[in-house]
Amino acid sequence: MLKYSFRKTYLRAEVTGLADSSPKPEVPDGMWIKCGKCGAIVYSGDVRQNLYVCPKCGGYFRIHAYRRIHMLADRGSFREWNRVMPVINPIAFPGYEEKLSEAKERTGLDEAIVTGQISLQGNACAIAVCDARFMMSSMGHNFGEKLTLAIEKAAEDKMPLVVFACSGGARMQEGLVSLTQMTKTSAALRKLREAGQVFISVLTDPTMGGVTASFAMLGDVILAEPRALIGFAGPRVIAQTIGERLPKEFQRAEFLSEHGFVDAVVERKDLKEILSFLIRTHKSNPVYPEKPYIPELPKKARSADRPAWDTVLLSRKSDRPGAMDYINRLFPDFMELRGDRHYADDEAIVGGIALFHGIPVTVIGERKGGNLKERKRRNFGMPMPEGYRKAVRLLRQAEAFKRPVICFVDTPGAYCGVEAEERGQGAAIAECLRAFSGAEVPALSILIGEGGSGGALALATADEVWVMENAIYSILSPEGFASILYKDAGRCKEAAGLMRITASDLLSLGVAERIIPEPDPADAKNVGEIAEYMDGRILDFLCRKKECSPAELIEGRYQRFRRF
Ligand SMILES: [Zn+2]
Repeated sequence: MLKYSFRKTYLRAEVTGLADSSPKPEVPDGMWIKCGKCGAIVYSGDVRQNLYVCPKCGGYFRIHAYRRIHMLADRGSFREWNRVMPVINPIAFPGYEEKLSEAKERTGLDEAIVTGQISLQGNACAIAVCDARFMMSSMGHNFGEKLTLAIEKAAEDKMPLVVFACSGGARMQEGLVSLTQMTKTSAALRKLREAGQVFISVLTDPTMGGVTASFAMLGDVILAEPRALIGFAGPRVIAQTIGERLPKEFQRAEFLSEHGFVDAVVERKDLKEILSFLIRTHKSNPVYPEKPYIPELPKKARSADRPAWDTVLLSRKSDRPGAMDYINRLFPDFMELRGDRHYADDEAIVGGIALFHGIPVTVIGERKGGNLKERKRRNFGMPMPEGYRKAVRLLRQAEAFKRPVICFVDTPGAYCGVEAEERGQGAAIAECLRAFSGAEVPALSILIGEGGSGGALALATADEVWVMENAIYSILSPEGFASILYKDAGRCKEAAGLMRITASDLLSLGVAERIIPEPDPADAKNVGEIAEYMDGRILDFLCRKKECSPAELIEGRYQRFRRF
């Protein structure tokens, strides 16, 4: 029955697909078509097989709303909501009703958005999909109303919500009534958040104007299709206003991701898997094991007699395993979420979500990178303010969905430079300290290499701090310390000995709760063994903290730092 309704949509689409004046036409059936991106003549069957991606250039065709739903929904699971709404013409705009009738006739849609419920790999979720064929998917009253009803229903029935945004912006013919849909839809999303349900926004080509400036950018997770045009003002308007040529990739999905507004640019073929994963990681009430397995200690460690300076060198060694070496082993399904939602995605800090023994967790780590090129990209592990703001954003997200947070600390320090000051390095670190000390979810921090100053402390504000046997944690580098106190950086070895920065020092000072032993100084060979030990210990930590209320966690953390 439902399949038949899809079929009908297809037939309609086939008849009318090319009537749209959009530069990237939908794909009619059984014929050769020209790709709007590369100009190649391709067979429509191949395009359809390839999920409406050009087989020649990889360019994305736009997708009809029902087709998009069909691509995601478990067979026969789609139930449409509020398909037909009474026509309104709020400012009595001449010719608007005729224009609506014409759009309806041409597309077979009642509005520019289709809403309903699907099962996605077995997970019930609400879905709303915009369709660019209908008046460029502009948001008028009925569009806003349908979306708001869908959000309210998702909140009421406790379902996650996935929205595929695509829009030219507000619908001019409805004047201010159109504009107020921006507030209405944004406000409704608060209800969804209160109901503890995740909102995943998928930005597709093009998402502009009032839709970008409202619900589309409010996703708990924001995904985008490759090269989708996303922005507030149109590129032509901007270019005319400033009288300059715009950069080539301006306002593309990748540009937004670099600037911190998109968590991930996801290829169409991966969307279903990723949406399903995100829905699963945002479910509450995970099952914890009754009695976690506590692993044996790795064979006897032997760092005790080593001079502190030698440990400093070990902690900085270029082949010492970094955050991703542990993350990849401990959280094999880790999905990176990028960006601070304000300025940029700082690659010196990596963050994301994963399922750890079936428990959803948020993972954040400072990352130095492997080869020189990568190290430069990651600023040698020295985060910018936007890195710390990303960490706070991910913490807030974790709190909203009750996920514990696990941090890996490895940084020479927060970046010291003009741009870092311009963007408020001090303020960003301070915000991190306040946010993590008040975190409503369990937080664990593991020092895996260099723990340099405030840049490390920002991510070492947790219920427990663990330190690897050959990691260090210091107020300043021993070189910096020596140059300040002795006016001679060369006396760094001597300084290191006095600063009490090694794992055993940290344990006796009460700065750390646990030492993660390294049978031999951590390297590519033994990182697996060390990660295995961490795995059992982390699971034990999560089990110990699972019953703690937010108030208990916050008070415990307060007392932990209050005693210093
Ligand atoms: Zn092409």
